[in-house]
Amino acid sequence: MRFLLGLIAILAAFILLRSLLEPVVKAVVALLTPPAATHTAAGVRSGSAPRASELKKDPVCGTFVAPELAVTQEIRGQIMHFCSPKCRDEYSRRA
Ligand SMILES: [Zn+2]
Repeated sequence: MRFLLGLIAILAAFILLRSLLEPVVKAVVALLTPPAATHTAAGVRSGSAPRASELKKDPVCGTFVAPELAVTQEIRGQIMHFCSPKCRDEYSRRA
């Protein structure tokens, strides 16, 4: 009987200790794995990815140029992007 009481006491102490430690453990886990850092890293990656895909290829020299920096020319209803006015002139001369 004393053994059973001791077992119940240990069990009760364990449950009490666990309920006390659970918020502490959760806080430590949250500190060790900051979700904000991974979110920011993913945000930077996804933010730069569409920028890279937006690059336009210069049909004359094959250089990839950012649309905001490119020399543009509308040719047969299509906006073409060139790295320089030289390439644009070369393309319209060929076309
Ligand atoms: Zn070019």
